[in-house]
Amino acid sequence: MSECIFCKIANQEIPVPLLYDRDGVVAFSDLNPQAPVHVLVIPKVHHESAAQSAAANPAVIGALFAAAASLALEHGLDGYRTTFNTGESAGQSVFHTHMHLLGGRPFAWPPG
Ligand code: 5GP
Ligand code: ZN
Repeated sequence: MSECIFCKIANQEIPVPLLYDRDGVVAFSDLNPQAPVHVLVIPKVHHESAAQSAAANPAVIGALFAAAASLALEHGLDGYRTTFNTGESAGQSVFHTHMHLLGGRPFAWPPG
């Protein structure tokens, strides 16, 4: 049994409400939201990072972006930000590939 928290959410061992569940991708609200809409979009398959997903199966990355577009439409977002933190130095704290989908407020550039 995997000890990975996002694997447990993906297989509903931890029953978090899913906002999306299609094509091997699930999405759920971030526990510590940084915007009015802050959704985590993850593959059901366990990869440690977006880089590892891209190397293992680039279609996984495409499926995450397709999910983000669908969720943004559902939430009525006219613009949104998608972010992968890859590696500890970039702020990655959970080592199961996840895209942050953020929306509902203006975003500064460059990001912090
Ligand atoms: P990272 O820092 O790895 O890019 O993003 C991890 C994200 O997962 C953080 O934004 C954090 O708030 C979120 N997170 C960590 N543990 C949980 C959890 O158990 N449930 C949910 N819904 N989000 C979590
Ligand atoms: Zn995992």
